[in-house]
Amino acid sequence: MTTAGGTLPSNASSPKANLKPLIELTDIHKVYTIGDQEVRALDGVSLDVRVGEFVAIMGPSGSGKSTLMHILGLLDAPTEGTYLLNGENVGYLEDKKLAQVRNREIGFVFQSYNLLPSFTAVENVELPMIYGSVRKRRERAMAALDRVGLTNRMHHKPTELSGGQQQRVAIARAIATEPSVLMADEPTGNVATRQGEEIMAIFQELNHQGMTAILVTHEPHIAQHATRLVQVQDGRILADQPIRHRILAAEWLEQPGNAFASGPLDL
Ligand code: ADP
Repeated sequence: MTTAGGTLPSNASSPKANLKPLIELTDIHKVYTIGDQEVRALDGVSLDVRVGEFVAIMGPSGSGKSTLMHILGLLDAPTEGTYLLNGENVGYLEDKKLAQVRNREIGFVFQSYNLLPSFTAVENVELPMIYGSVRKRRERAMAALDRVGLTNRMHHKPTELSGGQQQRVAIARAIATEPSVLMADEPTGNVATRQGEEIMAIFQELNHQGMTAILVTHEPHIAQHATRLVQVQDGRILADQPIRHRILAAEWLEQPGNAFASGPLDL
């Protein structure tokens, strides 16, 4: 990124972000028709996400955030536009192929956890891998639960876990097959503030380990854990900026010529 004062260091975004494009959305539209009324939920969205980035999507209610997230997550198809995922055109695949690509490439976390109540944490994490015929399921499920700090709750059922812990199980389920990208729609929407911070700490840690992450939130204190903020309004992208984390900002400002440059956003 070039600003008035020079070029930002590459570590102004996620430590492991690189130039390889993972997601390329071009001029995406989504129109819902209800009776004779048209709702333009997305009205020409173009967005690239590189491997290793951590993107927060924010915007007021009704701005199109969830629609965008569902299209990104291959849970819904656009009305118009192109979606390339790892170079493959995935916007309009038929259902079976779509499910295959989704299972392979995307881990999705929902606001409401979506865990099965009669299954334990480890069984919940294993479940999608059974459908996907993934091998070493128990091993992978245990490793994923370890990554979210829940090894000691592995055999608990959802009702025996706090909201934050249930969401951590959902994150473990999403990452167990090592997808290309972790996506989340308001992942902290149902949990207490402190548990929300724990969930964001997990997202950050996974991102530091190289996982690309995209989440939707309406809370600035949640978005500030990301490295890039995309603001949506009326189905369009209003702003798209790196988030300057204090330590990186300090390093950057020490470089000659950068002190008065305007650039990334402080949250
Ligand atoms: P946000 O997540 O920012 O609150 P949404 O993506 O849910 O926004 O919605 C964007 C717009 O599309 C809103 O006007 C909403 O009413 C409309 N919308 C979303 N889903 C549907 C649907 N299934 N049918 C009709 N309209 C929808």
